[in-house]
Amino acid sequence: MSKRWKGKTCVYCTVEGSSTTPDHVIARGFFPVDKRDNLPQVPACDSCNVRKSNLEHYLSAVLPFGSTHADACDFMDKLVAPRLRNNQKLARELSAGIDKTYAFINGRVLQTAMTIPIDSEKVLDLYKFIAQGLAYTHWNVLMPASDVVSLAEFLIPEGAGYMEAMLNTSKVISTGPVTLGDGVFTYQGVRDPVHQTLTVWRMSMYSVITEAEANGQSIMVSNAYLMTAPCGLKAATDLIEAWSRPVAA
Ligand SMILES: [Zn+2]
Repeated sequence: MSKRWKGKTCVYCTVEGSSTTPDHVIARGFFPVDKRDNLPQVPACDSCNVRKSNLEHYLSAVLPFGSTHADACDFMDKLVAPRLRNNQKLARELSAGIDKTYAFINGRVLQTAMTIPIDSEKVLDLYKFIAQGLAYTHWNVLMPASDVVSLAEFLIPEGAGYMEAMLNTSKVISTGPVTLGDGVFTYQGVRDPVHQTLTVWRMSMYSVITEAEANGQSIMVSNAYLMTAPCGLKAATDLIEAWSRPVAA
């Protein structure tokens, strides 16, 4: 292990000196073998690495089922099939829950998609880790759980529009749109110039579509949005209130 990664602050729990290992912010396992170059890495401690790996292991076997990405078949063959062969229990759960459905986007039937019982909380938990890793990668910003709150949701268009407005305002420091592995993972993040742990993110893995609730109806969306904010910051509270306010019918 290179010294570069030892004894640093773990980016996830932010305990000083606790890092033992480099962690790929977006795990290599999500990418086809020929698309794993230049993925961002951050220092992590053993315990965070294990917690994050558990999420990645589950999601890299499950997410490609919901993919609308052009390489979806490739993902299934090369990435998912071998994992399911090694995890018969998960394979049985998935095959029991698979259903074929139509995706409605903007009122049009776009395509059929398989829906499986993806635990979307696990997707969002992983995205929270990823936001921490990317904030460090882009801006050297650490986000301690003790004084930063984070929210993550798959949003309906109205909520997404609100987040997009924040992502595209000129008052923020932006990563710009980033695409990794030919679209396997895409994201854009911004942070406030003053309150550096006030951040907003859009993320999509494999262009997976999943359900979001809108006025009692479920619609299919592919982007998840995240926001992090310093605890006790009035401006952030206002933003979060706006985030969580029910959409007017
Ligand atoms: Zn840690």
